[in-house]
Amino acid sequence: MAAFSAFQCDTCKNLSAPPHVSCGRCGAATLRSVALSGRGRILSYTTIRVPPMRFRGQEPYDIAVIDLEEGLRVTARLKVPIGREAAIGDSVVFEGVVEEGPLYRLV
Ligand SMILES: [Zn+2]
Repeated sequence: MAAFSAFQCDTCKNLSAPPHVSCGRCGAATLRSVALSGRGRILSYTTIRVPPMRFRGQEPYDIAVIDLEEGLRVTARLKVPIGREAAIGDSVVFEGVVEEGPLYRLV
């Protein structure tokens, strides 16, 4: 499994996915990178059939809002194996970072 990191506030332990200069919850400036399990569940998903200009040619592709085990919520590309179909609540695992951001795969 690929490694996926988030940032954690040293003061209040709040987690955030993109790097920030200070904690979005308490404002402390001491953040450090923490490893995540890479596992989560689909909260919501959709298939993009008419993408924005820069993603033209990649359609159709799936985007999901994923609740990670650690309590963080991320929006990511979703890889659905051929013959499968995604559903809300399905388990997903982090697969890597692509140009568009994090990529998760249906388990
Ligand atoms: Zn904080």
